[in-house]
Amino acid sequence: MSTKHKTGNKKKLRRQARAEAFAKGTTLAHAAPAKASDDDKSEPIRFCMMAKPIGPACNLRCEYCFYLEKEALLDRGDHRMNDEILEAYVREYIKSQPGNQPVAFHWQGGEPTLIGLDFYHKAIELQRRYAKGRRFTNTIQTNGTLLDDEWGRFLAKGNWMVGLSLDGPKEIHDKYRLDVHGNGSFDDVMRGLNILTKYKVEFNAMTCVTPASTAQPLAVYDFLKQAGAKFVQFMPIVERLPDDAAKELGLQLAVGIRSGEAVPSVHMTPWSVEPEAYGEFLCSVFDEWVRHDVGSFNVMNFEWALANYMGRPAGVCQFMPVCGRSPIIEYNGDVYACDHYVYPEYRLGNVLTDDLQEMMQSEKQCAFGQAKLDALPEHCRQCPVGPACWGECPKRRFLTTPDGQSGLNYLCAGYKRFFEHASPQLQIIAQLVQAGHPAARIMDSEILLIPRDTH
Ligand code: SF4
Ligand code: SF4
Repeated sequence: MSTKHKTGNKKKLRRQARAEAFAKGTTLAHAAPAKASDDDKSEPIRFCMMAKPIGPACNLRCEYCFYLEKEALLDRGDHRMNDEILEAYVREYIKSQPGNQPVAFHWQGGEPTLIGLDFYHKAIELQRRYAKGRRFTNTIQTNGTLLDDEWGRFLAKGNWMVGLSLDGPKEIHDKYRLDVHGNGSFDDVMRGLNILTKYKVEFNAMTCVTPASTAQPLAVYDFLKQAGAKFVQFMPIVERLPDDAAKELGLQLAVGIRSGEAVPSVHMTPWSVEPEAYGEFLCSVFDEWVRHDVGSFNVMNFEWALANYMGRPAGVCQFMPVCGRSPIIEYNGDVYACDHYVYPEYRLGNVLTDDLQEMMQSEKQCAFGQAKLDALPEHCRQCPVGPACWGECPKRRFLTTPDGQSGLNYLCAGYKRFFEHASPQLQIIAQLVQAGHPAARIMDSEILLIPRDTH
């Protein structure tokens, strides 16, 4: 048998093994979670923490925001991270990260620029002091409306990566991303984008997908490409109207469900994306990307899917078998399991009194992450695109499978449509890369599986 055949067979066997492991519910090597019961519990694990230096405070009032309402769960008063907590956070986070890789700091909100530049000058001073020569990086997720020249110079000097919340052209962006007076924020965001461009600050677009954008996928895609984003990430908006638990906590949106929990009735917010429409949106954008932009414009949703086809970690929790390595730290030092689970029962401790590694390796957090896989319904385990989808985020698993099991993802129909559509091309890209070719070769007309015609 030729080497080529042997390699092909190995790949086939590996794919088969992955599919079988998936169906049995066992984890793959790349996806093994930290388990409280592991023998070597003292071995530190890597995790990626997001900080909320100003809590949920924001100068905008985006209709679909899930974090603004968290105000109701926090103490009254000023939600600014004070010097003591900032120092403890920087020191403990650096200490908690194993290995020599750069320590990645992520600042988020609410709107994290609201706290002002002095705060970040202090953060960098502390990072330098506690990193003791180890490298560190900073990223900030912002709506961009408060960026000015001073910010531009600061971000450029520190080589920050900026995540800019931008939903597409004006009429799409302004549908839901409103200011406190109910006016669209597009013009202010574009002013911020111009500052980033002026100071050559790299930025990624965080693009929420709503019913307004699913109607015009290519208008959104072309706009983001022209805007100069280095990467783009599409985030489907899925929120339910408040349930009893939410009403008890004074919240306007339903509380994130526990993995596997049955949800008797589902009432979606009007700004939630329709599953099928989301699938079609991804297919249209994918076709455009695979025809023209592979290797030159990065759509993270496709990179994550590709990683799964290559047997590598997807790089984002939703498309991994288990999760729980993306905690958040609130302005007051409280640490929570995940950005989508900032509720009292998911609080892990406080950075002033508890050790970050211990919080991350606690039974509570390990159970949270492992539940993503353990509660995956049989329907998903048998699904042909399961090893790419992994049932996505548990927060959205509030439907019932056709055979009556709870825990099916609301976006299931969309993911099925997208992964079935994109799989043949993604598999070819995976093979090209594994054979040492650039991914961009997929665009060669003799390899591309779809017509080159475009809009
Ligand atoms: S609950 Fe969802 S967002 Fe949170 S860590 Fe798990 S997969 Fe990620
Ligand atoms: S596409 Fe649907 S059935 Fe398949 S794994 Fe994803 S959520 Fe489950």
